[in-house]
Amino acid sequence: MARYTGAACRRCRRENIKLYLKGDRCYSDKCSFERRAVAPGQHGQSRFKKVSDYCVQLREKQKVKNIYGMLEGQFRNYFHKADLQKGITGENLLVMLERRLDNTIFRLGFASSRKQARQLVRHNHVLVNDKKVNIPSFLVSVDDVISIKEKSKTNSYLVESMEAVARRGIPSWLELDKNAFKATVKALPNRDEITMPIQEQLIVELYSK
Ligand code: SF4
Repeated sequence: MARYTGAACRRCRRENIKLYLKGDRCYSDKCSFERRAVAPGQHGQSRFKKVSDYCVQLREKQKVKNIYGMLEGQFRNYFHKADLQKGITGENLLVMLERRLDNTIFRLGFASSRKQARQLVRHNHVLVNDKKVNIPSFLVSVDDVISIKEKSKTNSYLVESMEAVARRGIPSWLELDKNAFKATVKALPNRDEITMPIQEQLIVELYSK
């Protein structure tokens, strides 16, 4: 599966917001955005830049794409699926992105970033309903039980991430049994629990042109 392999911090500076792509580093004073919050590139510090509606919509789409670590084609597919569902397209899109297995693993604190969560899934450390699932884009459903393989429970990254999750909190649609490294999906994610400042309507407007 193709993925972006460039500098993560550059993306935060481009979107002018902390996207929390690097786990614990994002909460420390090593965060590049805290030290240098200007757009990357030679003209990053230009102050009087005209911003069109299209640019605002594009940047919002790029921001969400970067948060969930997706490439354009994958993201557009999610949008088309969200558009076919009943309800509000923008919300459907965010709910689908939240339901991805890599995001769920991150939300549960089994990984300190979505990138690390994706790696855990790809490397066969994760079970869904006691079956191995190594597809990061797998969408979890209500009553699914997500657990960590017995042999992987001593993985040092995983143990450290579990200790750090208190800082982020676990959304109410997930119920975690920390000692058993196991969680149940109690409900589908709720838009209100996605706390990053996202204006999904701008993405709908962009793709509806
Ligand atoms: Fe963004 Fe700071 Fe994390 Fe880098 S360390 S990804 S700039 S939040």
